[in-house]
Amino acid sequence: MAATTPGLVCAHHHLYSALARGMPPPPKTPTSFQEILEQIWWRLDTALDLEMIRWSAMLGALEALESGTTGIVDHHESPEAIEGSLSVIAEACAEVGVRVLPAYGITDRHGPDGARRGLAENERFIKEGGRGLVGIHAAFTCSDESLQAAAGLAADLGVGVHIHVAEGEGDADAPRRLASLTRDDWLLSHCIHLPTDHTLRGTILHNPRSNLNNAVGYADPARFTNPVALGTDGIGANMIEAFRLAYVMQRSVDVTCGPDTAWEWLATGWDLMPEARDDEVTWSYEPMDPWHLAFTPGVRPLEVKVDGEVVFRDGAPTRVDAAEVRARAHEQAIRLHARL
Ligand SMILES: [Zn+2]
Repeated sequence: MAATTPGLVCAHHHLYSALARGMPPPPKTPTSFQEILEQIWWRLDTALDLEMIRWSAMLGALEALESGTTGIVDHHESPEAIEGSLSVIAEACAEVGVRVLPAYGITDRHGPDGARRGLAENERFIKEGGRGLVGIHAAFTCSDESLQAAAGLAADLGVGVHIHVAEGEGDADAPRRLASLTRDDWLLSHCIHLPTDHTLRGTILHNPRSNLNNAVGYADPARFTNPVALGTDGIGANMIEAFRLAYVMQRSVDVTCGPDTAWEWLATGWDLMPEARDDEVTWSYEPMDPWHLAFTPGVRPLEVKVDGEVVFRDGAPTRVDAAEVRARAHEQAIRLHARL
């Protein structure tokens, strides 16, 4: 039995995270979300170069296809390799046959020059014809000037902003600082510590596995009136799994809820990347229905078509050699881990 759906969309990814697996442990065990950022992710992103970014994106795109995901909304940061990074990601995804909507997440963590160069990379990529968004890491690592500059650039370019909001308690000030800036085309990732009566505009991106992994709490996105979409926050791009986790996390606080709400969140991805609706995934299972999928493990794509072209068939990508991608990504992971 088989059923088809459009290509799934991962609404919040960090493709560079694909090389994090197996990285050496931090010097001491992080005891808070802030320490997880400082001791793991901010050490990792600082060590990235363009070759590592290329193969992490190739691996991440391959794993997306293997999960029936044809659209990735990526949030990228590589403070020592900013210029050209969004093009490297876009080219890698195109080579595998996956759609990507990248953004460079600007931050003042490395001084105002870092934020300025990040902004310039967003502008360069989009003005050269790339499809992308303007990225901001988060309000708590940016000055008001940088937040305003990013919002202004996005408005000028006619694109949205992709930003982390209130993932940890240290960003609780975000709703106040962003209140006058957000628009409906902004993407607000996490929003765990966002008050229910906030005034921010945009789509809220819910990342159940990442939130569990970082012990940051449950966003309970059903409480918001904003649209909600599902992401992985860099832990692969298996959106059926993200849906299953989103459902069971919602259920953990509301035993009356069904999987339809989490399924709607998954479908919101098509509002962010409408072209993925033209893609076609043939699945190993029928029916592709929320009540079935919430309780059916191991559902996988048999064939994936992007824009009419078969890019995945019989368990393998058609444009690239999966073993080669994994081998090259592994080489880059060794280089990356040696720098940490
Ligand atoms: Zn994220």
